Amino acid sequence: MKKDFIFSSIDNLKGVGPQLSKYLKKKRIEKIKDVLLNLPYSETDRSKIFKLKDLEIGKIQTIKIQVKKLNFPRIRNLPNKVYCEDETGKIEIVYFNSREGYLRKLFPLNEFVIVSGKINYFNKKYQITNPDYVTSLENQEYVAKSIPKYNLTKGINEKKYRNISEQVISNLPDINDWLDEDFIKKNKLIDWNECIRKLHNSKDGKINQSKSFRRIVFDELCANFLALSENRKRIRIKKLPKIFNDKNSELIKKNLPFKLTNDQEKVLDEINQDLLSDKRMFRIIQGDVGSGKTIVSLLSILNVIKSGYQCALMSPTEILARQHYKLIKNIFKNENFNIEFLTGKTEYKIKKVILSKLTSGKIKLLIGTHALFQKKISFQKLGLVVIDEQHKFGVKQRSDLAKKGGNECDVLLMSATPIPRTMMMSLYGDMDISKITEKPAERKNINTLSKPENKINELWPFIKKQILDNNQVFWVCPLIEESSFLDYSSAKKKFEIINKKFPNKVGLIHGALKNNEKDKILKDFLQRKISILVTTTVIEVGIDFPNANLIIIENANKFGLAQLHQLRGRVGRGEKQGTCILLFKDGLSKNAIKRIKVLKNSNDGFFIAEEDLKLRGFGDLIGFQQSGIKSFRFADPVIHEDLFKLAEKYVQNIKGYISYSKYSFLLKLFDKAEIINTSEP
Ligand code: ADP
Ligand code: MG
Repeated sequence: MKKDFIFSSIDNLKGVGPQLSKYLKKKRIEKIKDVLLNLPYSETDRSKIFKLKDLEIGKIQTIKIQVKKLNFPRIRNLPNKVYCEDETGKIEIVYFNSREGYLRKLFPLNEFVIVSGKINYFNKKYQITNPDYVTSLENQEYVAKSIPKYNLTKGINEKKYRNISEQVISNLPDINDWLDEDFIKKNKLIDWNECIRKLHNSKDGKINQSKSFRRIVFDELCANFLALSENRKRIRIKKLPKIFNDKNSELIKKNLPFKLTNDQEKVLDEINQDLLSDKRMFRIIQGDVGSGKTIVSLLSILNVIKSGYQCALMSPTEILARQHYKLIKNIFKNENFNIEFLTGKTEYKIKKVILSKLTSGKIKLLIGTHALFQKKISFQKLGLVVIDEQHKFGVKQRSDLAKKGGNECDVLLMSATPIPRTMMMSLYGDMDISKITEKPAERKNINTLSKPENKINELWPFIKKQILDNNQVFWVCPLIEESSFLDYSSAKKKFEIINKKFPNKVGLIHGALKNNEKDKILKDFLQRKISILVTTTVIEVGIDFPNANLIIIENANKFGLAQLHQLRGRVGRGEKQGTCILLFKDGLSKNAIKRIKVLKNSNDGFFIAEEDLKLRGFGDLIGFQQSGIKSFRFADPVIHEDLFKLAEKYVQNIKGYISYSKYSFLLKLFDKAEIINTSEP
């Protein structure tokens, strides 16, 4: 059997016809390797042969019985029955939808057979309806044992799937392990060939710390990290270093109304080093909401423009892009270079002029939304792309983007989603990371309170006072998983209630609105035409509403801590003290109370992200899923933290491009081969 077997289609297996193949594909089992990665979650113990007097109703049991009589009623819908017994009692085997000839062959009169299935009791008699297995005594061994239990789906039963998994395991070729024996031994892992067999044929697959399970976790992580690190090497190719004089940005710095924090200075330095080096930059600034990432990116942009290149700054939304544009116009007001603004909505005539000025190199800085990366747009000499709030981009989009800029273009991303240390490599393994942990000195911590929902009435006077004081309020409605419709309707309901109390002062915004409708309402809020904005989580992204200083978050336990932290970062950005009120349904779990405490006591997004991961475990982090973190199939950053570290180190120790022949099996196994194939070095 060749190695290719593992990557061939399941259709080549015996007993897999078009129908079964269709069902398997629905379960994403298409290749033999998918069967390998579909691990049993438990097992059914059919090993013991029970006497009929010892049967337990409702259990799956195996019996050895003698066939006494078969009954095939001629009336439709009545089941066929086989009457059997052993020396201790009687039982009926009941079949719906079966043919006489088939049953007569399966149950030869007066012979002994082995039957395994769920024991029922009906009309004072034991019954098994449509048993899982019926076999002759010679084949007893096939049935009377512990049988791995897989997650199955309609159209596939244990017997059918077992035929598939056993065929796969018994035909499995031995693979040359990509891990050295020494490495395996030292780290208490296990050889791949042994691992995969054990995962299917013993309890190992069900214990997330068994040697075999840890081995497959390690493999999964390695495949992931290898792909990312390879991607990174292919992006960090040679370029011409940029030449600029730091004095440019120094002058702007001096004119700022504030002094940069040490972290901002440090990050600016890291970026400058990259710009001046002969390798393309692919860097992400990670900093909490309000940590001042924007100004750092602007100073870098200035440096790049001063060395004769063009720059582009991209934001996820129009309104954020516009905010950046205004700010930048102001900061660069003494510079005499051309700055333009482009979104999907820019008028055709204006757009045409912008495009031609980009090609001729007249425009030095282009600010906008995704529209910046349309095919038609070409720069004369693009030196730096900055992308704000990048967490909406996946790995593939990032690498596409890096290609688009051309070889001379450096790439800088900014994210306000703090990521726990363990997850860093799996998310950003293709990038260099700069962190801003320090907050601007005069930034006040947001006052965070919690309140049970049934005391909501106590809030109205407080809100009324805020409005009289000319403050603005966000009201965030529960995030309801997987249903944008429910999400929308609960916000709408709340809007109606609040609007009655404060007529003409309330706006509503939710994910079902079109972008331009959203932008209009946000603009109204920004211009203080409304005082209260009822919203779903669409307000997360980094817009500055300097006048908003109260945020009320309903059903707060539905959100991840990281997300709550992001949300409350929307307020208290101006001079006034910000307040965040978390509303809860009654009867919070101990864990939920702990989580609120973390939020109340800390304003450090990185710390909060770590705590959230610890308190909730990975499986259930809504906030993380929303910020684009995919979960692994086997690996869990809480349970397998040590393996995350080990895999990271392992991959970092591989110098130069990876050996495709050595790792191709691993990469193909976890569907990562494509990344390597498509991005030629
Ligand atoms: P974010 O990191 O969330 O994108 P911004 O760059 O929007 O943060 O900065 C938030 C606010 O803090 C802005 O109004 C900005 O002018 C201000 N700011 C940035 N750096 C400093 C600093 N070192 N000291 C004081 N204020 C600062
Ligand atoms: Mg920002």
